[in-house]
Amino acid sequence: MDCNPLLDEDEFGYDIATFLACTQHIQYIKTGGLAFISDYQGDAEILTDPQVLTHPSVNQGKDTFGDGNIENEVSMFEKKHVCNDYCTWSGFGLARLPAVLEEPEASQ
Ligand SMILES: [Zn+2]
Repeated sequence: MDCNPLLDEDEFGYDIATFLACTQHIQYIKTGGLAFISDYQGDAEILTDPQVLTHPSVNQGKDTFGDGNIENEVSMFEKKHVCNDYCTWSGFGLARLPAVLEEPEASQ
């Protein structure tokens, strides 16, 4: 239920996971910030068990997609999503999201 790849850069499938993170960005924008698909699982050929996450405003906050719908993730998408090379490819026309990254601790 994260909007960023859970794999490390050197792990098999990282590039696919990065592309899927970009598709979440596209879904989020195309739905006006109301939804994206998460929890992609599977292998290089088949994806299984996706979960649609919707914003709390969808369906007046009534249960839309079961317990797996973690509305807060949609509310926080613009702060948590870190754009990758797919997102910034000009063909998609996506604006880079202002993801909030951990700030380095101030040295004293
Ligand atoms: Zn992005």
